[in-house]
Amino acid sequence: MKLTLSETAAALSGAKKLVITAHVNPDGDAIGSSLGLMHLLRGLGKDVTVLLDDDIPAGFHVLPGYDVIRRPSSEEGEKIACDLFVVLDTMTDRIGGTAASVHAPRLLNIDHHHTNPGSEKEDLYLDATRAATCEIIYDLAKEMGAPFSKEAAMCLYTGLATDTGFFRFSNAASHTYRAAADLLDAGAQPNVISEALEVKPLQTVKDLGEALSQMEMFADGKASGIFLTQAQTARMESTESFIGHIRVIDGVDVAVVLKCKEPELCRVSMRSKHVDVSRIATEFSGGGHIRAAGCTLKMPFEQAKATIMEAIEKAIREGWTA
Ligand code: 5GP
Ligand code: MN
Repeated sequence: MKLTLSETAAALSGAKKLVITAHVNPDGDAIGSSLGLMHLLRGLGKDVTVLLDDDIPAGFHVLPGYDVIRRPSSEEGEKIACDLFVVLDTMTDRIGGTAASVHAPRLLNIDHHHTNPGSEKEDLYLDATRAATCEIIYDLAKEMGAPFSKEAAMCLYTGLATDTGFFRFSNAASHTYRAAADLLDAGAQPNVISEALEVKPLQTVKDLGEALSQMEMFADGKASGIFLTQAQTARMESTESFIGHIRVIDGVDVAVVLKCKEPELCRVSMRSKHVDVSRIATEFSGGGHIRAAGCTLKMPFEQAKATIMEAIEKAIREGWTA
């Protein structure tokens, strides 16, 4: 069922014990919104646990609460009971083992992806006009009358910054900037966050060089792609930054990075200037935003590569702009 902002705030205010989670392969918005909401709710005297079924990239250590994030337990007897299970920044199917490790009478999904279809049995608050789930948590804090501590402000600012490419992308609206300004007033330190997030291990920069050297242009120069084999994917620790380097090429509309994770499983990330890449991702049961989307292809590397190149060429040719 779709909830309004005030119904969502009431659901959060009414719960005493909550578990918060977000999507696997967590980014700044997933981690920032989880920890930001945790701080806000703890400030209101609630018992809050954050579970994320993945490794948390080290750069996020500057976020207050980084150390309290737990991975869900796979032991059946160790399910965490709570009044409200909150799933942030994704539809509820991308949270890994967390789903099976929480026992709650009610699930509340809060998201900003327009591709989130929701479901009959779960409560969904979706605002696709917001650049980040952190921006929605900001709205909810105001609705609940919850004060922004410095800790909450640091975390929520992070999601605003990372989901807008540090306030450069078209999703950054005046409301986003106003929210950021309020969070700065509450103690967020943008320079501390951006400096921590830009640090990369030497090996990651070398891996970037390798990836760029094998970049392929296609769709008459309107698309750029990096296609990493299973061996490369296994060897490379962090590949998130790669796509940013190939989306800026003059004339490129769609950039894609494909990583082969298993013999028949490849992960795809896409970015665009005009084409609605969420539509391409949705064709393969993925999702995301118009200019940033992803999906999983359950097929071998070469087939996955050909499949996504063909889908991108078609989207460009047919002008799938939003
Ligand atoms: P990224 O390329 O950074 O992994 O993801 C870009 C955007 O698309 C993010 O907002 C992310 O949450 C979304 N996204 C990526 N992969 C998937 C997927 O497999 N399913 C869905 N529903 N969304 C995805
Ligand atoms: Mn997000």
